[in-house]
Amino acid sequence: MADIIQLLPDSIANQIAAGEVVQRPASVVKELLENAIDAGATQIKLVIRDAGKQLIQVIDNGAGMSATDARMSFERHATSKIRKTEDLFSIRTLGFRGEALASIAAVAQVSIKTRLHGEDTGTHLAIEGSEVIKQEICETPPGTNIQVKNLFYNIPARRKFLKSNTVELRHILDEFQRVAIAHPELYFEVFHNNTETYHLPKASLRKRIVNLFGKNLNDKLVPLDEETAHCKLEGFIGKPDAAKKTRGEQFLLINGRFIKSPYLNHAVQFAFQHLLGDGYHAFYVLNMTMAPDRIDVNVHPTKQEIKFEDEKLIYNVIKAAVRHALSQHNITPSLDFDQDPVLANLPTPIIPQSKDKVIIPSSFSREIESRNPGGSDEWGRLYEGLQEKASPDLAEQVATFDGLSEDQKQVKEPYQIHQAYVLTQIKSGFLIIDQQLAHERILYEQYLSNLSGQDRQTQGLMFPKTFSLSTAEAAILEGILPTIQELGFDIEYFGQKTFILHGIPAHLSNLTDEVSLFRELIEQFQLNLALDFSEEQRLALSLARSACLRRGTTLSQVEMTALIDQLFACEVPFETPTGKKCFITFELDQLKSKFN
Ligand code: ADP
Ligand code: MG
Repeated sequence: MADIIQLLPDSIANQIAAGEVVQRPASVVKELLENAIDAGATQIKLVIRDAGKQLIQVIDNGAGMSATDARMSFERHATSKIRKTEDLFSIRTLGFRGEALASIAAVAQVSIKTRLHGEDTGTHLAIEGSEVIKQEICETPPGTNIQVKNLFYNIPARRKFLKSNTVELRHILDEFQRVAIAHPELYFEVFHNNTETYHLPKASLRKRIVNLFGKNLNDKLVPLDEETAHCKLEGFIGKPDAAKKTRGEQFLLINGRFIKSPYLNHAVQFAFQHLLGDGYHAFYVLNMTMAPDRIDVNVHPTKQEIKFEDEKLIYNVIKAAVRHALSQHNITPSLDFDQDPVLANLPTPIIPQSKDKVIIPSSFSREIESRNPGGSDEWGRLYEGLQEKASPDLAEQVATFDGLSEDQKQVKEPYQIHQAYVLTQIKSGFLIIDQQLAHERILYEQYLSNLSGQDRQTQGLMFPKTFSLSTAEAAILEGILPTIQELGFDIEYFGQKTFILHGIPAHLSNLTDEVSLFRELIEQFQLNLALDFSEEQRLALSLARSACLRRGTTLSQVEMTALIDQLFACEVPFETPTGKKCFITFELDQLKSKFN
């Protein structure tokens, strides 16, 4: 039989490699930004069209390339960054595998203009599907200007797989944020569809964080600075009230490279332990520097995973450093030592924390708590609109629930346990209601009916409120603005990431911190993007989750009764919109059998 093994043509080999390196427009953004940084650029401009599906362009003022190098740079395994095996263990550049440009050029239409400093002219190259279709001398400023058009134009299956523009843009901005956080010393500009999304002048790390994530983070940042024999760790952690339910804002950099490490992330989370509410993730930007030979970056094509010589040690360093920073700055929600240099230098006082006091990072729920220290009926008033809807006859409502029979009609006074669950007696036994999940269900149905226009009521604000959001937040809010208006919010976009709130839904009328409600809402909306919900359901769910009563809130009898009342007035009281149980039932027989 004839020999059948052949070497793959370059174009196919490159496409295969591209499968690993280039997953989506965001991967291209990452590789191009890293190349610009490796080239020593101090100013980098990123231009995106159509969430990167049409165009990704990076313009830098770095070293540039000669004509030969420009041509070479698109060959696979072509790199200026390493020459011999040993170099692999002392990597100080972001790239080194020499496969990004070759991969990108295999799956897109690429045009590059590049000029060395000190040369009069530059080189223009056009490459499509690994094929050089043009090379000429050109006029261009020193540095490199690379355009990547119509990603996956020659692989329709991959192109079809790209997600909506909202999702792809989110990925791009995530990658951008990682690079921008790692390099506050560089100037960055980002344009999407001709509007400026980011303008980041060279700055300190603190300033860069604030420029990226919003001013309100400034006084929530705790500096961290530790040095051990093996490594140096510096950066900022967010106070507990900067924690979010999205994991997005966690940046661990090792030698300037953003790293994904669930294990090391756990070290931070562990150090925060009791300070964070359930499901909340601490904000942090931590930059670790260590000798490059103690780590192996070459374990994955995207280089976002790393192997350490001693990972346990690194884990402990991070954990200890975060704890130290937290205790140095005596993180308690009410006292802000961080802002007082005298207090900050005092030894850490030991304040016993009441055991079941849960610190809820959401500023909204703190809002409820602070207006409601002993469980006054402020809370109840928040639900006035709902109470009217709920049937006054709870027993009748309970009876509509399949699991309970007609004669299960007496409900005794409810009782709250651990500020989280409401226990109530029914004839056949008892119910334990999860207060947070139950309330999520209640609000969800309320908002859905608002959205269907059945009973939308807007309460105008005496003084309209203006607020600004971070770029990413503003983009999301702008996208869902029409639906939010349906909910009863009278809100308009003012431009420049600023919004004006003129009115809010009537049933939220004694809400005093609308702005944090919006922040939560946006965060929830991002979290819920993956759900297979209609836009309206998603919004109703996001708002319900951001406005709902949290675990850790004390409820009065009136409030508990109202909660039970409203829950059983719901169409689907058993579970939350995403299928978590709102309550569980215990039969007397079950109890009896336990005592046998
Ligand atoms: P790697 O970054 O792993 O070396 P790439 O395929 O990303 O591989 O790039 C190949 C080579 O092209 C780089 O080693 C570098 O010499 C050159 N190069 C790429 N982008 C730039 C740029 N923006 N400015 C100057 N040189 C560049
Ligand atoms: Mg590279």
